[in-house]
Amino acid sequence: MVIVEVDHLRKTYGNTVAVDDVSFSVEKGEIFGILGPNGAGKTTAVECVVGLRVPDAGSVRVLGLEPRANRRELRECVGVQLQEGALPAKLKVWEVLDLYASFYQRPADPNHLMEVLGLTDKRDDYFKKLSGGQKQRLSIALALIGQPKVAVLDELTTGLDPQARRDTWQLIEDVRDRGVTILLVTHYMDEAERLCDRVALFDSGRIAALDSPQGLSERVRGGKRVRFVPSVGFDDRLLADLPEVRGLEHQGEHVVVYGSGELANAVILTLDRAGVTAKDLELEAVSLEDAFVELTGRRLHHEDGEDRP
Ligand code: ADP
Repeated sequence: MVIVEVDHLRKTYGNTVAVDDVSFSVEKGEIFGILGPNGAGKTTAVECVVGLRVPDAGSVRVLGLEPRANRRELRECVGVQLQEGALPAKLKVWEVLDLYASFYQRPADPNHLMEVLGLTDKRDDYFKKLSGGQKQRLSIALALIGQPKVAVLDELTTGLDPQARRDTWQLIEDVRDRGVTILLVTHYMDEAERLCDRVALFDSGRIAALDSPQGLSERVRGGKRVRFVPSVGFDDRLLADLPEVRGLEHQGEHVVVYGSGELANAVILTLDRAGVTAKDLELEAVSLEDAFVELTGRRLHHEDGEDRP
């Protein structure tokens, strides 16, 4: 059953094409990820999905309804956590939750949400006094307070410490297990890898690839990687000619071999026969980050890592 259907969506701001011919559909009970670097058009796409922006072309259906024309009906069923949601500074945490709960016919229990999101001891604090991470957790609570059928979460864990991130991931999995369909915008591949059933890789306003995290990784160089330090130098062709091997790279003293099947065995045995020992050997699956680089030719994060959690 399709819950969100986006068909040939296009949105421009002046000369900037933010979203360009994007199509995807989200199934009931799925956590669907929109992953890509800053400026890729992720937020614009979900803002069109929730009716905050008018597309220039294409169509959007949520639960079979057109988001702008049916805003009132959809407000009951769609919970939205968007970036930098401004809230009244002079309200206390419990008052904000109580106010939002009053918008819905069947709200969740605010005390339970505060408990799960670690906000109970902040219940009497004013919104403006909260730290960035606490504001973030409150915005997640507000997305879930109406017991929505669909939750749209943008930059879910930005600004949270590692423990709070893990707790939030667990919460999102619990919410999904209750049958809620989740559209998750992120630029963290570990988040997408952990949570998403399927991921659309956004790049410059377009979908570069759409698959499960594992499916995306497997598209790239067979999906396995062996890294080691050779005891002595050897001719690259020794490994490059193996049927399991798709590519080979030197990184300082390390050699990295990409491939599939029984890659590690093939590498170790072949080197051994040639009198070479593979020291400090590590076997890794190719990450979503590698898949992104391979599929778009671009890195997801800046090299300086400044946008990492
Ligand atoms: P992301 O969520 O992936 O970071 P956005 O959807 O925020 O991407 O932005 C996509 C592109 O549209 C960027 O080039 C951004 O600068 C531009 N953009 C976003 N919002 C606006 C706006 N309100 N006015 C003009 N340009 C915008």
